Amino acid sequence: MNKTDVIIIGASASGLMCAIEAAKRGRRVLVLDHTNKAGKKILMSGGGRCNFTNYDVSSDNYISRNTHFVKSALSRFTQWDFIAMVENYKIPYHEREHGQLFCDNSSKDILNLLLDECGKLNVNIQLNTDILKVNKASENNFTIETNKKNYDCAALVIATGGLSIPKMGATPFGYKIAEQFGIKVWPTSSGLVPFTLQPHDKEIYSVLSGIAINSLVKIKDTLFRENILFTHRGLSGPAILQVSSYWSAGESIEINLLPDINLLEELTATSKKQPQVKLKTILYALLPKRLINIFIQPELLDKTLQEISIKHYQQVSQKLQNWLIKPNGTEGFRKAEVTLGGVDCDALSSKTFESKSISGLYFIGEVMDITGWLGGYNFQWSWSSGWCAGQYV
Ligand SMILES: Cc1cc2nc3c(=O)[nH]c(=O)nc-3n(C[C@H](O)[C@H](O)[C@H](O)COP(=O)(O)OP(=O)(O)OC[C@H]3O[C@@H](n4cnc5c(N)ncnc54)[C@H](O)[C@@H]3O)c2cc1C
Repeated sequence: MNKTDVIIIGASASGLMCAIEAAKRGRRVLVLDHTNKAGKKILMSGGGRCNFTNYDVSSDNYISRNTHFVKSALSRFTQWDFIAMVENYKIPYHEREHGQLFCDNSSKDILNLLLDECGKLNVNIQLNTDILKVNKASENNFTIETNKKNYDCAALVIATGGLSIPKMGATPFGYKIAEQFGIKVWPTSSGLVPFTLQPHDKEIYSVLSGIAINSLVKIKDTLFRENILFTHRGLSGPAILQVSSYWSAGESIEINLLPDINLLEELTATSKKQPQVKLKTILYALLPKRLINIFIQPELLDKTLQEISIKHYQQVSQKLQNWLIKPNGTEGFRKAEVTLGGVDCDALSSKTFESKSISGLYFIGEVMDITGWLGGYNFQWSWSSGWCAGQYV
């Protein structure tokens, strides 16, 4: 049996951050991962440029059954702390809209930062390692059987993430360990994921594939103002990904394709000043012609404003500013960026991330029932939770 102080299962964002902090405290740390490369999700994130955090982070940017849980960790290891690490490594980065921070060059810069720190602190990272069995032999003693060696450790950290993108190594391992130790796991579903449309809607809207429109998208009381993107199979784009995390099957979403104007007022005012102008002239100036031709009946488009009634102005405004669409479903974990649900926060300490019922067992990162918005919030959660647990393991 190989003895060590801390074993972390999952060599990615939260696991590597936890490893660095624990090793700084002089703990002997072993990180195990079943894939052949650490941090695969970091590498693929942010379109290859890793949206590593956001200038503006608060608990409002997270979805969880326990919305207060994130506050402590986010305040102890903040976005500014991670930005300081990035600057210390002289990684060039830039801000995009909504305070999102991306690498100028490549996500590799972030992964290299983490691996470099691990290297300096003698963190042992073992890849291609399948975990066969985990047991708690006694107080402060976990035994881990793998396809290579068997280990025992005082503290075991589960940093195995969620279910999105199975081909990058995602597994339900963390949930299974929680269940093995009697820790509650909330049902999981895909978040930050494109919608598919009902067959009838798909037939209508798929011809708009490739068109992106800056829109206001609403689901229940939650609103996002960003691009929506028409795709061959449905709807995507940042605003759609954001609302998908709040969506349940059978619900409709409401889309305002012209969020900066009141179309009804514009049409009414223009009809007084320029009654001879055609409806299509006005609408083609506001939105792509291809989209207008799909959304508005051709017989109306060719009419002048004086030829059509206020009822028609209302219909047109309703269609473009309160477009109600009921998705058929989502693209699922194959395309999702994150997993909703997971290990119950109430079962863990928000200070240490240790299980309240099983001493020495910790859960960090996305495996927990914490899901961030699009915009760097998911990585910030990995950094903050990993850093905090690293102070205690
Ligand atoms: C395409 C894509 C783009 C994204 N872009 C961004 C972005 O720009 N900004 C942002 O904030 N978030 C982004 N995210 C989300 C972000 O990647 C995750 O929230 C974050 O990586 C979670 O970190 P984690 O350490 O908890 O888990 P993960 O990064 O998922 O790491 C889990 C690790 O555990 C390992 N593992 C899993 N099962 C086992 C097992 N059975 N045995 C051993 N090891 C196991 C995995 O191989 C992996 O290395 C993106 C996600 C995707 C899919």
